[in-house]
Amino acid sequence: MKKLRFILGDQLNYQHSWYAEKNDETLYVLMEMRQETDYVAHHIQKIVAFFAAMTHFANFLRHNGHTVVYLKINDTDNTQHLTANLTYLFQKHNIGKFEYQLPDEYRLDKQLTDFCSTLSIPSQSFNSEHFMTTRDELATFFEGKKTYLMESFYRAMRKKNNVMMNGKDPEGGQWNFDAANRKPFKGNVKSIETAFYDHDFRDILGEIDKAKVQYIGNIDAEHFTWAINREEALHVLDFFLHNLFANFGNFQDAMHTQHWSLFHSRISFALNAKILSPLEVVQAAEAHWRAHPNSISIEQCEGFIRQIIGWREYMRGVYWAKMPDYAQLNFFNHTRMLPTWFWTGDTKMNCLKHAVGQSLDHAYAHHIQRLMITGNFALLAGIHPDDVDKWYLGIYIDAIEWVEITNTRGMSQFADGGIVGTKPYISSANYVDKMSNYCAGCYYNKNLKTGEKACPFNSLYWHFYEQHRDLLERNPRIGMMYQLLKKMNPDEKAAIMEQAEHYLSILDEL
Ligand code: FAD
Ligand code: SF4
Repeated sequence: MKKLRFILGDQLNYQHSWYAEKNDETLYVLMEMRQETDYVAHHIQKIVAFFAAMTHFANFLRHNGHTVVYLKINDTDNTQHLTANLTYLFQKHNIGKFEYQLPDEYRLDKQLTDFCSTLSIPSQSFNSEHFMTTRDELATFFEGKKTYLMESFYRAMRKKNNVMMNGKDPEGGQWNFDAANRKPFKGNVKSIETAFYDHDFRDILGEIDKAKVQYIGNIDAEHFTWAINREEALHVLDFFLHNLFANFGNFQDAMHTQHWSLFHSRISFALNAKILSPLEVVQAAEAHWRAHPNSISIEQCEGFIRQIIGWREYMRGVYWAKMPDYAQLNFFNHTRMLPTWFWTGDTKMNCLKHAVGQSLDHAYAHHIQRLMITGNFALLAGIHPDDVDKWYLGIYIDAIEWVEITNTRGMSQFADGGIVGTKPYISSANYVDKMSNYCAGCYYNKNLKTGEKACPFNSLYWHFYEQHRDLLERNPRIGMMYQLLKKMNPDEKAAIMEQAEHYLSILDEL
């Protein structure tokens, strides 16, 4: 009986047990589809990276003796729709059984489950063999709890996987070295090397343009830089461990106008497309740290590993525990639209100009740029979480809903009212100035709260607290801010609120 095995674009797991078995009766199928290119306006580098990575993966399968059908975006028999394509292929190849790996997006999971319930042939879903936890492991772990504390989940993950453990205790006698991970970078940015892969993807870009796919952002298709296959992904990881790891934790929150990724690993696309596995990344990092105790301190290693077995697995667990309702949450009832310069970088605010500008140029911003620059601004400006989600989901090379929405709607916008974070992540110019060199070159003055040159973050910050007093005042982690507001001179407070209202009325002009 002929079997069709479907592989989604983010299921490029070269080590999956499916491929150990060679069988002429099995047809592997990958599809470039408008259904996937059009559900949001994606960054052009993200579309090219997925198509290129899928093409490489199909070639890898063929090279290993498997039979592959690869539907390209402009193929005449491509209906551009997942289930219509599958129905067509079932008939064309006389398929007797359908198999797929469990999708990580709710949208696709539902589509495939609904489709299978209508089939007259048997179907079966398989584990994608990527994550270190099952879909519902986090929900079970926190059963009965209102908030999901990442730290307790992370510690359990360390123990379960025996990562950085010394018997039953954490290495170094401490679970978390976060306090040592908050330094600004004052050194020479030019000395920080980065890994690049020089691809010529003009052909793929040509096909995307021919199909008239709408996209955002910029691309140099003659010198495409992201790792898109197994060999390159392993190299990116190795490059990180040898060149950047020693400073990762120290400067993971730092931002700089002259470097768009500093000591970050840039492995998120390879991880989220499943080209790399989280376990192999964590094991490689731990082994490297153990082998180089003099150059890699425990703070760097723990800081990195926490992102992967802590935050990444945690976010996935929250997604499956809370979807589909999570996508509707809007705790603060925010309604504004993102200013137009989120698509051009054309703003006088230097921090946003750089964070948005590099996102458009590279489909990348690191965690603190996403959280404390663009996310911070969107939250203070009262942007509707749907609008914020759409932007993040489109613009980043690594943006797939399960990890984008939990970070954006949850961690960054607090639209979930405190499932992921215990308080909103917001700041005035103080924090931005401490962690970056953005303020030095800015039109606005980081020290002013009112007046033509006042930094918008400064008034919007206090306006946010004042506006959401009912929702936040009783939060024990925030109460102090309301004490400060109470002590503020009434005239000064009124001027700050007026300044904020003015800025909110001219968001596009900031
Ligand atoms: P590094 O800083 O080198 O970290 C290593 C790895 O740790 C990352 O590749 C990633 O897999 C993991 N990681 C780190 N932080 C997180 C986190 N908060 N959640 C999950 N995994 C994490 N990450 C995505 O993969 N896709 C997204 O769509 C995404 N959207 C985000 C939106 C917002 C508002 C915020 C605040 C964060 C978002 N993140 C997202 C998390 C983080 O910003 C990226 O994973 C990281 O910037 C990727 O770059 P890197 O590989 O150089 O990461
Ligand atoms: Fe950003 Fe304000 Fe600093 Fe300008 S002064 S870079 S707007 S924080």
